[in-house]
Amino acid sequence: MDLVKSKKAESKGELQLTGLPISPGLVIGRAIVSHSKEMIFSDDFITKRDVEEEFLLAKRATEKVIKELDKVRNRALEDIRPLIEAEIMILKDPTFLERVRKIIFEKKYRADFGIYSVLTDMADSIEDRGESPYMRERANELRNLAKSLVEKIQQIDKGLSKRVDSREPRVVVAEEVSIFDAFQIVRAGFKGVILGGGGKTSHTAIIFRNYRVPAVFGIGRSIEKIKNGDLIALDGGKGKVIVNPKKNTLDKFQDRLKAYIHFTEELMRLKDVTPRTKDGREIVLMANIDFEEEVEFVQKYGSYGIGLFRTEILYLTNRIDEEIQTTIYRDIAEKVYPKKVIFRAFDIGGDKVLRIREGNPFLGLRGIRVLLKEKELFKAQIRAILKANKKGNIAFMIPMVSTVNEIKETIKLINEVKKSINGGDTLPNLEFGIMVETPSAALMIKEFAPYIDFISVGTNDLTQYTLAVDRRNPRVSYLYDHLHPAVLKLTAKAVRDAKGAGLKVSICGELASDPMGIPLLIGMGVDELSVTPVVLLETKELIMGISQDEATELLEKALRLPTTRDVRKLTSRFLNKRFPNLVMFYPI
Ligand code: PEP
Ligand code: MG
Repeated sequence: MDLVKSKKAESKGELQLTGLPISPGLVIGRAIVSHSKEMIFSDDFITKRDVEEEFLLAKRATEKVIKELDKVRNRALEDIRPLIEAEIMILKDPTFLERVRKIIFEKKYRADFGIYSVLTDMADSIEDRGESPYMRERANELRNLAKSLVEKIQQIDKGLSKRVDSREPRVVVAEEVSIFDAFQIVRAGFKGVILGGGGKTSHTAIIFRNYRVPAVFGIGRSIEKIKNGDLIALDGGKGKVIVNPKKNTLDKFQDRLKAYIHFTEELMRLKDVTPRTKDGREIVLMANIDFEEEVEFVQKYGSYGIGLFRTEILYLTNRIDEEIQTTIYRDIAEKVYPKKVIFRAFDIGGDKVLRIREGNPFLGLRGIRVLLKEKELFKAQIRAILKANKKGNIAFMIPMVSTVNEIKETIKLINEVKKSINGGDTLPNLEFGIMVETPSAALMIKEFAPYIDFISVGTNDLTQYTLAVDRRNPRVSYLYDHLHPAVLKLTAKAVRDAKGAGLKVSICGELASDPMGIPLLIGMGVDELSVTPVVLLETKELIMGISQDEATELLEKALRLPTTRDVRKLTSRFLNKRFPNLVMFYPI
């Protein structure tokens, strides 16, 4: 990475901004502000005579974008290719241009607005079907694709494709970027990204992480304060942006930058190491994935099992056909073999099945509640899982459990489906478990234990249900924290009861991907941690630097504290002492 010499103090005033830490890493460079202006459409309708011409325009723009995406795909890393392929598939699908044609001919829309309407309609229906941030991101990507096509038609160039002089790092500053833009940014050699908008689970976030381009999203309106050519010091792990730093600030930042480069190079030494605590207890480290193509990305960091595959992406992309599901599940299981993969049954909300909107969907028909009402859908998934489990390395778990009856009913269904496949006798064993996401499940492990092989604690939902804080609602986000003592107490109880009953215990919520959570979870005695792929090596480093005794002691102290703030203070003091290098570069 190039460093910018602090030849002179910047004359403009220093400005410090904070956003979402998206992709760790530090960079010092010059801002290139990309104006992806609001889309403007002419509001005139076209005449009958123009429709053919407008449709041709739409068709040509689509072909051009497909060609560009094709080029990008060929140069992209393995793990990212499927993302681009998904976009190409949408555009190549004959029904796409057919819909555009229909809207131009029937509604007399111009080409740009026709394409925009079709893609944003698709985005809206994805968003309507899923309330998770993940689905919102997928919908957002379709909207960004719509933008790329509209820009092609309107001949707008955002200036992202120009190669940058690699001797002077450049940082892109924009409101939003599409997957396509993200690739342009990586290929053109930009060294950092700052966005006004953007979300943590977006594909663009994944692209920047995979290519290790430091990024901060969610800066908000302050993005407008950054001007072309401003000097930027960006810290992706802390979500910090310093605009036009003073000489003093810049000098300090450069020291940190050098230390970071050294730190990441060093981490790769852990790629093939089995993580054990200082006193030798092995913690099985696995990865969470949201879509099948992420498996290859995980393998860049070594060989890991998958502790959570959120299968609902298959439901939302209409790939629920039993054979299609079987192929996808089998493919993943083979790729990670001999490690295991835990498939979670569709965690879908009730509105998309019952076609009603619920006032409070998180407390409504969701997860296992839906599946037990939609038995054919559930049975097809179970059958696909059983058929894919050729080598016996697949496990299956159900989300949003709150009663023992849900577990019993699921087991009845699994047995029924087993019988329907070859009489069920020859099938390899399928481990069966539950997600612990509700306080009710966390408190009832002893009663649930006779029916299950393992539990996986979903701290994301356990936090929202324990604290009565909607995980999507920004107005109460100040109350949402998985380090709240109540969440820790419930998690610790669930882990203790599960271990006491001889069950395997895994944690797949974000608490396991948070450096602050690791010592506390080790203290609880968990056997398996399933984390976001990008933090695999950092998590290993943490596990290997902590002994069981000190983790247990830390947990005991934490469980006696009255507030989240106290827990954070205690844990960060512990990490600061132990892992000064890591603490410097991650959100701690
Ligand atoms: C959780 O709730 O912690 C979890 C892992 O599931 P999701 O984030 O998909 O709801
Ligand atoms: Mg959950």
